[in-house]
Amino acid sequence: RDSLDIEIRVMPYSDDQYLLVARDVTQIKQLDNLRKDFVANVSHELKTPLTVLQGYLEMVEDPSMTPPGMMTKAVGEMQRQSERMRLLIDQLLELSRMETPSHDVFDRVVDAPVLLQQLQTEAEKLGKAKSINVHFDIAPIKVYGKEDALRSAMQNLITNAIRYNHEGGDIRVTWQMVGSEVEFSVEDTGPGIASEHLPRLTERFYRVDKDRNSERGGTGLGLSIVKQALQHHNCELQVNSALGKGSRFWFRLPAGLRVTNKRH
Ligand code: ADP
Repeated sequence: RDSLDIEIRVMPYSDDQYLLVARDVTQIKQLDNLRKDFVANVSHELKTPLTVLQGYLEMVEDPSMTPPGMMTKAVGEMQRQSERMRLLIDQLLELSRMETPSHDVFDRVVDAPVLLQQLQTEAEKLGKAKSINVHFDIAPIKVYGKEDALRSAMQNLITNAIRYNHEGGDIRVTWQMVGSEVEFSVEDTGPGIASEHLPRLTERFYRVDKDRNSERGGTGLGLSIVKQALQHHNCELQVNSALGKGSRFWFRLPAGLRVTNKRH
């Protein structure tokens, strides 16, 4: 290992002898640091909109001190900031639900085509607001799995493809057999992601361009939720991206999860 954290204890053994006990606490320390970082990040992310909100509240408290025309801007900004806090809390709860091992204990038959049709309706609505063309190509394949987790993974990937896309861009969502596995894929014509960021995308609160992405409404939690959701199905998120061209995010469910006619 690169570094090691050792906890050393000295214990009396006999009148003139001591016992030296060394314990490798590297993993415990790492987990503790992760927890501390997480708490610091959550506090920071919640504090930022709260500070803006409080600033505007102070301003509108005394209408005589509020410049004309500022009231509407202030109310709009307060709505935007409280919406941001709500989204962050919703995503934190979703992440915590996905991390809980007992989440939806049993695999059930998930009617993925029906689920994807619902997601298509949502995506078309979201895409319309940004003039993004949304294409879905859904094969009639059902799977065994956890519906909540699959919905969450698919929804987050589709939302990102729309959120980071240019106006007038395209997204293509497919659900199809690839060899013996079922593949879910979302391809977009957005800005793409530089290769040095790819390994860190699923870290909690990791954003490629923090300021710009916050403006777009991201929290930095979406892909960590996807990662957790996919762990319930023993599969991993894959990504391919080219700067200026777009990105493709996909995952393949193990063959055993497909519902075959025989089993169904
Ligand atoms: P966020 O809530 O900020 O979208 P995510 O965890 O979903 O957080 O994504 C992490 C970062 O990865 C985003 O902030 C964004 O910079 C980048 N990203 C994710 N999906 C895409 C995409 N389809 N195109 C370009 N960048 C993306």
